[in-house]
Amino acid sequence: MGENAMGLPLVSQDTIMIIEGPLTKITNGLQDPVQAYLNLGKDLVHLNALIGKTIKVKSTGFSTCKACKRQRDEPLFRMGFCKPCFFESPMAGDFILHPEKSMAHTGKVDRDLKIESDIQLQPHTVYMADSGQVKVGVTAGNKPWNRWMDQGASAGKILAITDNRYEAGMIEVALKAHYSDKTHWRKMLQGNRSEQSLHEVTEGAKKHVPDGLIHFIQADGHESQIKYDMPEQLPKLNWIKLNGTVTLEDELIGLRGQYLVFKSGLAWNVRGQEGLEVEMSW
Ligand SMILES: [Zn+2]
Repeated sequence: MGENAMGLPLVSQDTIMIIEGPLTKITNGLQDPVQAYLNLGKDLVHLNALIGKTIKVKSTGFSTCKACKRQRDEPLFRMGFCKPCFFESPMAGDFILHPEKSMAHTGKVDRDLKIESDIQLQPHTVYMADSGQVKVGVTAGNKPWNRWMDQGASAGKILAITDNRYEAGMIEVALKAHYSDKTHWRKMLQGNRSEQSLHEVTEGAKKHVPDGLIHFIQADGHESQIKYDMPEQLPKLNWIKLNGTVTLEDELIGLRGQYLVFKSGLAWNVRGQEGLEVEMSW
């Protein structure tokens, strides 16, 4: 066993292991290629080390809400939250998916002004990324490469850094009229690239930033090129979602974003099932 930057002991890759816990999002480290770690229960798995091995994953029938932490014997409602938390927790407010709906800068409360202020009233980055197609996105802070890796982007470039989440959301809304804000999972996993460079893309995008917000534009924002542990040739891809009857048992061949890709072509989005309790073995 080794230690890593997350401070948790790494699970051995060599012996038969069975680990269990609620799914959490994969933590990606910006290396060449990206190194992916999955925290399951008290264990941390270095996923790159499992490539080439057959792994088994099955649902235990339970799930754990990421807000109230209560274990339930039924699926979660949405985004890792149980139904009450999805409608009441400040962590699941409208501003999460729609940054332009942020209100803390006006002093108006949505669900919990203290938590909303902590999240919204900090610098945010508006970026352009190539994740199978060019897209615009917003993320907190000024280190967007963590988000780019989570989305499986081949590259990302900073367009603007704002003072708060609302301003970033307003830039994103203006750009959504011209660019996608979604990632197409199949194009992303296949590593499709836009024909335009991100430099050209951001230069074009700057023209669409609303007048009152152009002072947030970065003249030549940071750009990252990102490589993943994926085979050159992929089988035909099929999306899989685990539940009480659907389980996984297949050879892991690749990792990109929040996806594990298997030899048969199954593509499993771990973050999409956040909170689902699973037993994983190899
Ligand atoms: Zn809950």
